[in-house]
Amino acid sequence: ASTSLPQTMKGVIIEKTGGTEVLQYKTDLPLPVPKDGEVLVKNDVIGINYIDTYFRTGLYPAPSFPYILGREGAGTLVTASPSLPSYTPGDRVVYMGTGAYAEYTAVPSLHVHKLPASIDAATGCASILQGLTALTLIREAHPVKAGDWVLVHAAAGGVGLWLCQLLKAVGAHTVATASSAEKLELARKAGAEVLVNYAGPEGQDAVVKKVKEVTGGAGVVAVFDGVGKATFDASLEALARKGSMVSFGNASGAVPPLTIARLSAKNTKLLRPTLFGYMATREEAEHYAQELFAIMEKEKFDVRVHETYPLQDIARAHQDLEGRKTTGKLLLKP
Ligand code: NDP
Repeated sequence: ASTSLPQTMKGVIIEKTGGTEVLQYKTDLPLPVPKDGEVLVKNDVIGINYIDTYFRTGLYPAPSFPYILGREGAGTLVTASPSLPSYTPGDRVVYMGTGAYAEYTAVPSLHVHKLPASIDAATGCASILQGLTALTLIREAHPVKAGDWVLVHAAAGGVGLWLCQLLKAVGAHTVATASSAEKLELARKAGAEVLVNYAGPEGQDAVVKKVKEVTGGAGVVAVFDGVGKATFDASLEALARKGSMVSFGNASGAVPPLTIARLSAKNTKLLRPTLFGYMATREEAEHYAQELFAIMEKEKFDVRVHETYPLQDIARAHQDLEGRKTTGKLLLKP
């Protein structure tokens, strides 16, 4: 190991699952040692994603304890790897991996990308996981075409604002849902045409009604649903015949098991995709990362950062995210 590296680092670990009280800020964690196919990155900025809360609560199981949460960051490459021949220590990079809530992270080289000169670390970090999720969803889960009507839930969230902007760039018509007028206004600015508050007195019925109204009774060709349990039934109802129900998250809880016969009424396609399933090879990963960077430059996307929290304020950040108080991206400063 290089002598210029410190012995210990700051970071956040969990030793058990639970509420935000299980998040422990430490100043004496051992530096991670990159394994074969991994590189070491010094984080300038760390991204928070809803999935971090699933690992904290235990909805998704952590592989072992103590466990460092966090799936993305941006900073400086510390070690080179034969798997990334054109990368050298000192390169500005953005990555997806595990163990990001720390000063240093060992990450699989598969998901490390050089940042273009035009994209700063915070913007890159705020874009990579949520932007690529939105991009692969509209390209692969349901390839959206110009003129299509689609429904996006939690449209003012991290992935939601990306979906609105990308769908607008494709020329699709987006019906956006969110829980407040302020959030809906952000979705509108990001490109959504029709806005529905799904937290009003009518609840999810308002969504189905509005979709039917604007599509002449036909329904939307795709629903992008990261809310899960609370919206699933209404999402199925809002779909057109032969439409795609793209369930990609569970912010309100996991969707309960369902009888597949329910899909027969409208020949519905049901998908439960993950980003990493669309970016499993270096070729796929580079393809989508480069496309995302190119779109960001061309379309001059607004990458909204809700707040950059100090790493030791991680509990407040999780509370804000789970309390539906945030819009766009949450970042951490190590
Ligand atoms: P968001 O910024 O979208 O935050 C979640 C949002 O969900 C909230 O702001 C809130 O918006 C809405 N929501 C609705 N019901 C609830 C509830 N009961 N509790 C909390 N929030 C609720 O988070 P992300 O952009 O990080 O992620 C969005 C979704 O996408 C998540 O489900 C996440 O797991 C999923 N995801 C999936 C990926 C994949 O590969 N499959 C990759 C990345 C993200 P409002 O107040 O407007 O309702």
